[in-house]
Amino acid sequence: MNASIKPMLLLLSLLTVTVHADEPAEQVQHGAHVHGEATLQLVLQGNDLEMELHSPAMNIIGFEHQAVSAKDQQKLQQAIAALEAANELFRFQGTSCESVKAAVNLSHDTSAHEHEHEHEHEETTDHHNEQHKHQEEGHTREPVQHSEFIARYVFRCDNGSRLRQINVALLQQFSGIHRLDAQWIFNARQGAAELSADSPTIEVP
Ligand SMILES: [Zn+2]
Repeated sequence: MNASIKPMLLLLSLLTVTVHADEPAEQVQHGAHVHGEATLQLVLQGNDLEMELHSPAMNIIGFEHQAVSAKDQQKLQQAIAALEAANELFRFQGTSCESVKAAVNLSHDTSAHEHEHEHEHEETTDHHNEQHKHQEEGHTREPVQHSEFIARYVFRCDNGSRLRQINVALLQQFSGIHRLDAQWIFNARQGAAELSADSPTIEVP
C-alpha cells in the first residue's frame, strides 16, 4: 500500500510547484511559508486516503519560537493533541472513513536569510564590509525563526469510489488558518481547491 502511495505524493509535490508558479517570487522563495495560509495534500487510491498538512506554527499556536516556558509547552501539547484527533478534523460524505494513522511533527527553520538581505544594500567600501561582517555574525546568533507543523494522516474508507465530499474542520478549529490550499489526486484524477472558513469542503468528482 505505502509503496504505491509514495510515488503519488511525489507527483503531487510537482503539482504544487505548478500551482504556485504564478504567485509572487518572494512567497515561493521561502518555501511558501506564509502566515495565515496552509496547504493540504490528499491522495485517494482505492479505499486508502492519505493526507499531509503543512502549516506555519503561527497559525496553530500563535508563535514560532522554541516552546520553552510552561505556558508555551502547554499550548504546543494541546495543539499536537488537536492535530492528532483526525476523526474530529475530517468528515466524509458518501462513505465512512476511519483514521488509522495520524503523525504530527514540528520543524524549525532557523535560517537568518531575511537579515542577510537587509544588510546587502548597505555595502559600499571594503572597510564597511569588514564592519558589516561583524554585525552579521551578531545577527546570526539570533536568527529569524520559523517553524511549521507537518501532520500526516491515513484513513481507511469503506468504499473509496463512493466518497463525495471531505469536510475539513481545520479552519474552524484553528482560527489562525485563514486559507487552506488543497491539492488532491482522487483515483488518478487531480485538482485543487481553496478552502476558507466559509467554504471548508472538498468536492470529490
Ligand atoms: Zn513563520
